[in-house]
Amino acid sequence: MSLALRLLGTSASRPTVERNVASLALTREGETMLFDCGEGTQRQMMRYHVSFALGDIFFTHFHADHLIGVIGLLRTMALQGREEPLRLWGPRGGTRVLRAAASFGADRPTFPVEVAELEPGQRVERGGYQIVPFAVDHGGPPSFGYALVEAERKGRFNPERARELGIPEGPLWGRIHRGLAVTLDDGRTIEPGDLVGPPRPGRRVVVTGDTRPCDATVAAAAQADLLVHEATFGDEEAERAIQTGHSTAREAAGVAKEAGVRRLVLTHFSARYSRDASELEREARTVFDAVVVGKDGMEIEVPFADAGL
Ligand SMILES: [Zn+2]
Ligand SMILES: [Zn+2]
Repeated sequence: MSLALRLLGTSASRPTVERNVASLALTREGETMLFDCGEGTQRQMMRYHVSFALGDIFFTHFHADHLIGVIGLLRTMALQGREEPLRLWGPRGGTRVLRAAASFGADRPTFPVEVAELEPGQRVERGGYQIVPFAVDHGGPPSFGYALVEAERKGRFNPERARELGIPEGPLWGRIHRGLAVTLDDGRTIEPGDLVGPPRPGRRVVVTGDTRPCDATVAAAAQADLLVHEATFGDEEAERAIQTGHSTAREAAGVAKEAGVRRLVLTHFSARYSRDASELEREARTVFDAVVVGKDGMEIEVPFADAGL
């Protein structure tokens, strides 16, 4: 079951030569969704081979550097004759903004654009996973982070034990693995607990959008496999981070540490760090070791925590 994230833009506020503005794609088992859609996102998608056949765009908030790429993207989709609906999600206040963007983009619409406002904690249920928005602290109008939370997986089936017990390989193994007791020809009843381990957690990926370090992110990212946290500034601009509702790299690392995540990816860098973000990496690493400074085009696979065990 594949799950991978592709960073499409890692610059804050405006694009630079090296970095485009905010957007990232998550692809799970061939299904793609975007989180934010800054100016120029569609071109980044082409560059980095992200499918246009996506069904959902989740907006963290409606600052222009996270939003206005949707106009061009919708227009291209209409020119391509897309027919499948596209769903746009965001915090309260989003309907007006997203409707306006959609009317610019798909001025001759070939496909329905569905717009929905979410409340914090309101889950978007999908087969095998859900998207859960949570309120972050960016000042001003409501801003979200999002958690992709996979459903629990079945426990591991123990084939050696099944053979020991003389259970014939085939459909019976499948029934037991699905949690059903089976009765063998010789009259013995086998309970699934004899052969199947406890259910195993699915994966959890958390994207913060723009925010100060906050408890809601720590809670949403508890034991997450991957946290993508904004890190607009370095230590020297810690004061500015407070004033503008952003985080420093060190603060992002503090959130990752407190939440006990497996990996942290930093993104949304102020233009002054565009060419060289090594200072941010250094500052973050003093707090949390498993940190990566994001780059446009970077792909990060998210394996199960127990993969290879
Ligand atoms: Zn931003
Ligand atoms: Zn913002």
